[in-house]
Amino acid sequence: MVDRMSELHTFLFEGLPVRGMLVRLTDTWQEILRRRAENAETGAYPDPVRDLLGEMTAAAVLMQSNIKFNGALVLQIFGDGPLKLAVVEVQSDLQLRSTAKLLNALPEGATLSSMVNVAGAGRCAITLDPQDRQPGQQPYQGVVPLWDDEGKPLEQFQSVLEHYMLQSEQLDTTLVLAANDQVAAGLLIQRLPVLGAGNLAARAKVADEDQIGRNEDYRRISMLASSLQKQELLTLDVDTILRRLFWQEPLQRFEPRLGAQGPRFACRCSRDRVGQMIRGLGRDEAEDILAERSNIEVGCDFCGRQYRYDAVDAAELFAAHPPSPGTSSVH
Ligand SMILES: [Zn+2]
Repeated sequence: MVDRMSELHTFLFEGLPVRGMLVRLTDTWQEILRRRAENAETGAYPDPVRDLLGEMTAAAVLMQSNIKFNGALVLQIFGDGPLKLAVVEVQSDLQLRSTAKLLNALPEGATLSSMVNVAGAGRCAITLDPQDRQPGQQPYQGVVPLWDDEGKPLEQFQSVLEHYMLQSEQLDTTLVLAANDQVAAGLLIQRLPVLGAGNLAARAKVADEDQIGRNEDYRRISMLASSLQKQELLTLDVDTILRRLFWQEPLQRFEPRLGAQGPRFACRCSRDRVGQMIRGLGRDEAEDILAERSNIEVGCDFCGRQYRYDAVDAAELFAAHPPSPGTSSVH
């Protein structure tokens, strides 16, 4: 089988206010896993963490292209169990990176709640950080609990996001997500606002009978989408999946995004940014570290790149950028 490029497909159900997207990350996902496995400090992800992070990565691509946000979409889980953090960042041009941080070994047969929601304190956050953010402007953040309306812990990450889309965006959304060591993939089906895309005020005025008919269309398509098994999503190509699920529905498909326009791994770390971080520690702290070791070493969690600063580098850092009044230490 040809190793396919990572790809993102979008489509509309003709004549119905329903749209869909399908993402398959292959080379992109394999590169993220390879970099992690090659990191001597961490080693490869345990399978349940790998699969969760893969589902999150596929979901973040779907969400970014769904809202067409000009900036970074960051999808995070802050866990209260052995998995402390899982984070995916997708730029508007679909460059992406993801990583996870484990505190302890996973329990046997780890589930979503036994990894990140042991005491019911785990949460998921979606942050939109605009490209042209003004100084002092905070990025928008929505926080989603990891339990349902009855307070039962959710065991499928796709349910967490369906919940979020309904509560925060008032959009009916159906998601199927899956990942393994080769592929991270996702199918999203969404009911569009009936009048004026994204215009919630206009939508509220739509006559009830109109909504009911359109709801039925959405419900039928949503049920078809939900019948997709994770294993099928991981192994079948996009054309086969869409044909099998929606062979009776007229689809309008758009040009897929792949290759240099598609979802692809890119890390935004740089020596400059790491330098800023070390300056943020302050000169005293940096000198303390250098008194114990010959270098300040900072590894990037996303790509594994190592940055080293010796005493000369550090002195240059602080000489070139004297600490601002707010962060200076007293001598
Ligand atoms: Zn990096």
